[in-house]
Amino acid sequence: MNAINHVNETRIASPVVHRPLSYVSPDSAWSIYLSQVERVLPYLGSLAKWAETLCRPKRALIVDVPIEMDDGTVRHFEGYRVQHNLSRGPGKGGVRFHPDVTLEEVMALSAWMTIKCAGVGLPYGGAKGGIRVDPKQLSRKELEKLTRRYTSEIGIIIGPQRDIPAPDVNTNGEIMAWMMDTYSMNTGSTATGVVTGKPIHLGGSLGRVKATGRGVFVTGREAARRIGLDIEGARVAVQGFGNVGSVAAELFAQSGAKLVAVQDHSGTLVNGKGFDVPRLIAHVQRAGGIAGFADGEPADNESFWDVPCEILIPAALEGQLTAARARRTKAKLILEGANGPTLPEADDVLNDRGVLLVPDVICNAGGVTVSYFEWVQDFNSFFWGEDEINVRLDKIMVDALSAIWETAERHRITLRTATFAVACERILMARQERGLYP
Ligand code: NAD
Repeated sequence: MNAINHVNETRIASPVVHRPLSYVSPDSAWSIYLSQVERVLPYLGSLAKWAETLCRPKRALIVDVPIEMDDGTVRHFEGYRVQHNLSRGPGKGGVRFHPDVTLEEVMALSAWMTIKCAGVGLPYGGAKGGIRVDPKQLSRKELEKLTRRYTSEIGIIIGPQRDIPAPDVNTNGEIMAWMMDTYSMNTGSTATGVVTGKPIHLGGSLGRVKATGRGVFVTGREAARRIGLDIEGARVAVQGFGNVGSVAAELFAQSGAKLVAVQDHSGTLVNGKGFDVPRLIAHVQRAGGIAGFADGEPADNESFWDVPCEILIPAALEGQLTAARARRTKAKLILEGANGPTLPEADDVLNDRGVLLVPDVICNAGGVTVSYFEWVQDFNSFFWGEDEINVRLDKIMVDALSAIWETAERHRITLRTATFAVACERILMARQERGLYP
């Protein structure tokens, strides 16, 4: 049994926020983030004096994004860019196009970017952006207008040295190319470094597409080694077979593990002998989902959480691992490929049951790490080969997990709280060293 199972960290801490923000509600994603910061207070020593810095975004910009639709009408969309913390470097974080996006959600996502970047040791602060829109309802031309107007509106706070957006839910390389072009037109430059996740011929990086899944695999491999779990022959269950889940599954299978259960929006399949992962990926590319793949037994969606496995990878949506599902899972190791897949009560259940969880803020940080490589390559106008990128990614993830593991053992806390502890210490140290202006 590893030393950081059944840890006994403080679950109720004194509130860190002296005066709650007037513009957030108590049950938002932002309040989950605040409760995670509160858990870390006992481990911050004298730096705790600066902790309230983390409980307020440095800057939150709300913008009106009007566009003329194809039918000649004018519609207004609500857009945001939040820079949560810039103590360690320029802001970094994606842009989400979704009808349910809210300021509070963007604030929480920006704060998790601050933690993620500091936890991995990247020289960035945290930021996030979004537009309340269902992009599927827009034509390509309308989507381009929306992206360009939004980029112009947030142009007063973004830039290669200030805040660097990237793709997130419903945004992609093409949208990043429009953002890069709009910012470049407005500044009279060719500013490739203003966004990451760009197409390769516009200053994008090799290895970016698979980077998050690769990071999930690397942190999983290291965590498994430390708890004496052999990947060779280990049974893996993956929820979400998109960019993150399929790449992680492929890399585990290449290391001798067996993908025994997979779930996506189209259903759940099980195969005790192990799926042929490249064939499953090819099927999903053709069919749009796992449903209909011949080499697996369809199963009830809820039964996915009972499947006998050693490694469970939630790589789809937030809030999937509830306390009830956490009580049922057979997994010894959980790798959070998705952002926020585990509810706070489930975290405590897993800890009490001795199940090791590698949290999103380190587990899926491979994507932002290769985004960082893209930004560095853009500045140098010199591009690396894919092998070099993968080797560098591996080293950064291994070193990051190692520092977090050591902190978890030292304080006998979970890997989530340890990641927050390592990250918050780095952020607040920078805050303290920079001093308060004026
Ligand atoms: P994706 O769109 O490529 O894949 C999402 C997968 O989830 C698909 O297989 C989809 O079918 C599945 N899914 C959707 N609804 C589902 C449901 N109700 N039940 C089960 N499965 C469902 O997205 P992605 O890029 O792989 O991202 C997955 C998660 O990882 C998200 O939480 C995202 O925020 C997070 N993440 C992604 C990256 C990245 O670089 N892509 C980086 C960090 C975090």
